[in-house]
Amino acid sequence: MTRKVLVLGEVRDGSLRNVSFEAIAAAKTTAEGGEVVGVLIGNSVNALSGELIQFGADRVVTIEDEKLKQYTPDGYSQAIMAVIDAEKPEGLIFGHTALGKDLAPKIAAKLNSGLISDVTALEVAGGNLVFTRPIYSGKAFEKKIVTDGLIFATIRPNNISPLEKGESRTGEVSSLSVDIKDLRTIIKEVVRKASEGVDLSEAKVIVAGGRGVKSEEGFSPLQELAKVLNGAVGASRGACDADYCDYSLQIGQTGKVVTPDLYIACGISGAIQHLAGMSNSKVIVAINKDPEANIFKVADYGIVGDLFEVVPMLTEEFRKL
Ligand code: FAD
Repeated sequence: MTRKVLVLGEVRDGSLRNVSFEAIAAAKTTAEGGEVVGVLIGNSVNALSGELIQFGADRVVTIEDEKLKQYTPDGYSQAIMAVIDAEKPEGLIFGHTALGKDLAPKIAAKLNSGLISDVTALEVAGGNLVFTRPIYSGKAFEKKIVTDGLIFATIRPNNISPLEKGESRTGEVSSLSVDIKDLRTIIKEVVRKASEGVDLSEAKVIVAGGRGVKSEEGFSPLQELAKVLNGAVGASRGACDADYCDYSLQIGQTGKVVTPDLYIACGISGAIQHLAGMSNSKVIVAINKDPEANIFKVADYGIVGDLFEVVPMLTEEFRKL
């Protein structure tokens, strides 16, 4: 059965986030040969339409308004609902990001629809569209099919491969005018913590530190290694609680869920709440001086040793490559 599927393109600092391209790939599978329509919301997003098309959207609808400059649940849901009204899609795919996690349930409730959140894979099997998502903090996976109504899913970043970019792909871009009104929240100012380098939730390589780093300065060798590998630095809650780093770096059940190609855990014991956020990483390397540490149970490679000796050695070796 072919479907029309809408994909929300997520814009941050004037650029599309990678998860938008992954969502297009998921939408292509969901559409089963039907149409994939990219949706861009903001105050000057038209210029990004081409990129969505190059990654596989058949066409793009943009909604531009000064009131949509920053994300607000009210503003974005009015915009999305207007596109849904105009396009009458059979499927909706958002990223399972902070924005997607906030917006998707609100839209699902407005549409009286179900929502399959945090999808890590989807396929057509036995004539059904099958969505896979982790449960019990990543200890098991469940497979879901939608038997009736709208297919609405959020996809976890870094799990579904985007289509290859096709510079020559073309598609129609249209704009929809929406009267955004009655906003209950207005963003006056965005104050950002200075953060360097790669975005943690989309990083291909993460070097994470735990209580074993022992201090704020203890994170320096990890930052060096992350820099050489073009990766991001993450942390356990143990390290955040001890004030060695900011909570924005926390990975786990109550922090960020990440799925990088390579996760290097340094001085992290491997508590179940931490594993919930990283155990689906493609390759896990653990460095811990306790050979009995739980983290070694999920690690593909384990190094028993002092992180302050091992991490600089790794940095030196990777620098040579
Ligand atoms: P520790 O458990 O203290 O481990 C430190 C490790 O460092 C040890 O294994 C030690 O052997 C090793 N080490 C010490 N020195 C060195 C050295 N020089 N070289 C090498 N290794 C060394 N935790 C999270 O991470 N994320 C979450 O989202 C999260 N959510 C939670 C939610 C709830 C409701 C609860 C109750 C807890 C949550 N926790 C979370 C906390 C979790 O239970 C653990 O307390 C925490 O993960 C421990 O952090 P850690 O591994 O850094 O510290």
